[in-house]
Amino acid sequence: MSNATLAYDLPPLPSYTLHPLPPLIPGISDGYLAPVLLVVAYWAASGIFHLCDEWDLFPQYRLHTPAEVLKRNHASRWDVLRDVILQQVIQTATGLVLTLIDPEPTFGKEEYDIAVWAQRLRIAQRAIPTVLATLGIDAASLAGRMSGSHDVLSSTLLGGVYPGLTQTVLLHGQPTTVPAFASWELLAGRAIYHLLIPTLQFVTAICIVDTWQYFIHRAMHMNKYLYTAIHSRHHRLYVPYAYGALYNHPVEGFFLDTLGAGLAYLITGMTCRQSMWFFTMTTIKTVDDHCGYAFPWDPLQHLTGNNAGYHDVHHQSWGIKTNFSQPFFTFWDRALGTKWVGGDVSARYEKARIAAQRKADRDVKPITGSQSTESTQASSAKPYANEAIHATHTARAAQSIAEPRVPAGKATQQALGSRQSILNDRHGAGGISVLAEETAEEVRAQQQQQQQQKPRRTPRKRTTSSGLGLKGFADRVGESLHGKSSGVLGVDSGRSYQ
Ligand SMILES: [Zn+2]
Ligand SMILES: [Zn+2]
Repeated sequence: MSNATLAYDLPPLPSYTLHPLPPLIPGISDGYLAPVLLVVAYWAASGIFHLCDEWDLFPQYRLHTPAEVLKRNHASRWDVLRDVILQQVIQTATGLVLTLIDPEPTFGKEEYDIAVWAQRLRIAQRAIPTVLATLGIDAASLAGRMSGSHDVLSSTLLGGVYPGLTQTVLLHGQPTTVPAFASWELLAGRAIYHLLIPTLQFVTAICIVDTWQYFIHRAMHMNKYLYTAIHSRHHRLYVPYAYGALYNHPVEGFFLDTLGAGLAYLITGMTCRQSMWFFTMTTIKTVDDHCGYAFPWDPLQHLTGNNAGYHDVHHQSWGIKTNFSQPFFTFWDRALGTKWVGGDVSARYEKARIAAQRKADRDVKPITGSQSTESTQASSAKPYANEAIHATHTARAAQSIAEPRVPAGKATQQALGSRQSILNDRHGAGGISVLAEETAEEVRAQQQQQQQQKPRRTPRKRTTSSGLGLKGFADRVGESLHGKSSGVLGVDSGRSYQ
């Protein structure tokens, strides 16, 4: 395969010959290696975090305690393993189909492509005198002053006229003198080909993946059927761990992850080898977002605001309807007002920790989530404007019990909507029993926390100072869940829970 141009006013493009690209690993075609690499990257990254869990290597950076993993999740490790493997089978099959429709990778055209960019730059220079003229600068006189000391710049200012730059090439068997590229043009062509274009492809792919995932993920939370039938499976992990990152319903796995990635690959025109790096990076980022650790030295957790801590909020019963963005940026959450606005979550996490520990100590059957509090922010509550209207009495009751003194605001609505989600998911990882148990545990944990923090004043009266013993709280939970207590947000409902 060869090519040559006869454009004499421009430097000609070199001829090229394409050769098959040797595979990265001899004996395995890149097209087969790419999907396999994703699986290897997933389990390698997950394996590292799993060892951190098992050997308790960095307890100081854990978002949740082992007791929470044990008591708050609604899927066994085996369930997770099985579904992740199923998703990877689907993902690998899709990758192999893409490989089949892809042309065989080749090399040998690089210098030609660089020259194409250099030629485009030469053509673009023709506009310089006109652009300068609109600024009131005479290109010819400016170039004249520079000629001698800055010949190349002078030629550029004149519109890319380089009379001294020629070369002799064979055209139709005859040696012919034709224009040649300036060295800066070739250098710029090289930078465009090797740096600018791949960077643009990666940035575009990131935007496509983020946008695709945000809107589908959001739809899965906003639509009750999609949530309960499909997405709630991922949320059986209230305490995410690394290899649970791809724990999804197979339909979700295909549409949210695999199809989005495939689109990004096809739209950006990445090569197979580029896609290998991009999707390996995406896979590792997704695992990292579910790793359960907030590491100060993990670069993936500090490149953007979207990290394990950010996504972990989305896995909590009070934050499940917030922080939909994944895996790279938080742009869509911020732009569309779905970012968690409740501020510092450390108190909520602490309550969940205590609650799970109590359950672990009692060794009761594993079910829970966590509960919470709210800030008073009321700004841009749009996506949550109807949460209060749609919330059932049960969700309101749980909210008012967990947050008795919190005024209405966007964060309260976010938490209320999240609780309603749990309630709606009767057949998955939620339902009334989970919400009731969570609330009871949460209230007890809160009580315990308050007692621990209570100053030494009137130590003798400690047991009665709050006026609400454990039994009192438990009664209130039961009472509220049976429709006898007032709701929150100033709206009362006579309905009992659904
Ligand atoms: Zn979700
Ligand atoms: Zn997740």
